[in-house]
Formats: sequence, structure tokens, C-alpha cells
Amino acid sequence: MRIVALAGGIGGARFLRGLKEIVSPADEITVIGNTGDDIHLFGLKVCPDLDTVMYTLGGGIHEEQGWGRADETWSVKDEMKAYGVGPEWFGLGDRDFATHIVRTQMLGAGYPLSAVTEALCDRWQPGVRLLPMSDDRVETHVRITDEQGPRVVHFQEYWVRLHAAVAAEAIVPVGADTAKPAPGVLEALAAADVILFPPSNPVVSIGTVLAVPGIREAVRAAAAPVVGLSPIIGGAPVRGMADKVLAAVGVEATADAVALHYGSRTAEGLIDGWLVDTADAASVAAVEAAGISCRAVPLLMTDTGATAAMAREALALAESVRR
Ligand code: GDP
Ligand code: CA
Repeated sequence: MRIVALAGGIGGARFLRGLKEIVSPADEITVIGNTGDDIHLFGLKVCPDLDTVMYTLGGGIHEEQGWGRADETWSVKDEMKAYGVGPEWFGLGDRDFATHIVRTQMLGAGYPLSAVTEALCDRWQPGVRLLPMSDDRVETHVRITDEQGPRVVHFQEYWVRLHAAVAAEAIVPVGADTAKPAPGVLEALAAADVILFPPSNPVVSIGTVLAVPGIREAVRAAAAPVVGLSPIIGGAPVRGMADKVLAAVGVEATADAVALHYGSRTAEGLIDGWLVDTADAASVAAVEAAGISCRAVPLLMTDTGATAAMAREALALAESVRR
């Protein structure tokens, strides 16, 4: 079975770890990762979501934090600070720095991001084929109004530095309109037996992947059933601030509103099936009324066992909606 998943960082990576538990060795998982969060820091190209997937599946992640390396030290950051060189608000540890140095060096030598990602994965052996959504530069920017007046900031500045404390007025994946899907992305979607939307952020993770021209169309055209899992449980994101970016695109932070935002494939939308948490069982009817097959199952990724059960439910739902 060929499974293709779109993914952001923590939510995507943790789900994929559960999915890996339940597939058989002959199955192939291809991950199309969000690169809209990418940022250039200290002259280095940083790809937070690709790295979170790579480290999580490769056994190098800082478990509690959900991003960055385990057993990290911070000497480089401290030394930069001593020089008065920032930004201080973005956490890059010593081990993590090595990844960004290798990546930047390879990009400088002319390799596309997809080839660089493959090379980094040679070390980490994540057990999935990890593709960036595009080799072209895409950077998500957020329009806000604060004491400095109306302005636009990089998504990382909005998320990490400002903690999404001010309202996001607009979210723009800068460069997406002219970006091309990375090699293998459209082919993977066309050849997929199942397409999954993990409980990643619907706007700045999955939404950004879908903003690359051709990807949304390829999902819609795919022969495979498309099933998503709600990142919203009981009206709130389980962790993080997804409600802030949902508000920016006019979507309520509820499990059913996110399903309707993706839309039914029977009505110009993207998904055939949707899983909500048991806490949101009351919203199943509204999702089904929109033409999306829906089930309520536990969706808290408390450990790999619980996450594997979610993945099993997603594949079962995919089978039940297969045309
Ligand atoms: P990011 O790039 O690191 O923000 O990660 P993603 O976009 O892949 O996923 C972030 C989303 O994961 C958050 O908006 C949460 O709503 C969701 N999430 C985190 N933990 C859980 C969980 O245990 N269950 C569910 N259903 N969603 C979760
Ligand atoms: Ca992210």
C-alpha cells in the first residue's frame, strides 16, 4: 500500500510515528512536508517542519519539547548573544545547527532542497520518503497590527516571538503562487492508495502545502480516498495556537468547521473522510451532512499506542469510503 501524508511539524510527525507502527514493511509512506515555515537565520536555511518530521521519525527529537534535538546544548547561541547577534527568540541548539549548516552548504553547492532533504534523511533513516512540498522558496508571512502599526512579520516571528498574542489579519504564503511542487510530489499523489491529512495545522501547515499550484488539484484528482484527522478537540487546539490562524481565514476553531474548511470531495473540496475526537461526537452529523464520512474516535496522541490506534482508524475510514 502506498500512503501519502501531507504534514507540518509536531502534529504531523507524531501522527506519522503512530502510522509507521501499524503499516507492514511492504507499505510505503511518502510525506509531503510544509516548507512555508522556513527561515534564514545566521546565514543558514532552517526548515523547522521538515526537521521535526526527520528528527521525530529518526529518533533524534527532544520528546517533551516536540521540536529540536534531544540532549541539546546551546554554546553557539550563547556565543552569538555575547556578540550581540540575534535573533535570540529562535531556539537553535548546537546539534541542530549542524543540520542547518549541512543543508545550507548543499544548497550553496546547487543541490535542490529535495535532494538535500534526502541526504539528511540518509543519516536519520526516518522510514518514510520525506519530500519538501517544493524546492522553491516559500515563506509564510502574517499581517498584524500592534503598537508599531499595521505590518507584516515572518510566520516564525508571529508564532515564536509574539506567541500569536495579537490577531493575525491575513496569512500569505509568499512565493507559493509561483512555486512548483518538488519532484515526486504530484507523482506520489497520483499513485497513492490512501492520502492522509494528519492533525497538522490546517492553515499554516496543510494549507501552505495545498497553496503550491498543482498540489490541491492533484489531491482532488487522486484515485485514492482522502482522510483527515481533526487537530481541534473540544473547540481548542490540543497544543499551540492554531485557533489564531484559523480566525485569520474565517474558520471557527471546531472539529466540524475545519472539516468543512477542507470541504467534501463531492463538492469541490478535498476530503472523503474525517475523524473527530470522542469529545466532539456531537459534530459528526454536521460533517456527514456536508458529504464527508465522519467518525468520532480518541484523537489524543498521548503515546505511540494511542497514536497508532488513530492511524488504524484513519486507514479503516479510508477503506470504507474507497470508491
Ligand atoms: P507544527 O508545524 O509544529 O505546528 O505542527 P503541525 O502543524 O503538524 O501540527 C500542529 C497541530 O497539531 C496543532 O495545531 C494541534 O492542534 C495539533 N495537535 C497537537 N497534538 C495533538 C493531539 O494529541 N491530537 C490532535 N488531534 N491534534 C494535536
Ligand atoms: Ca510548522
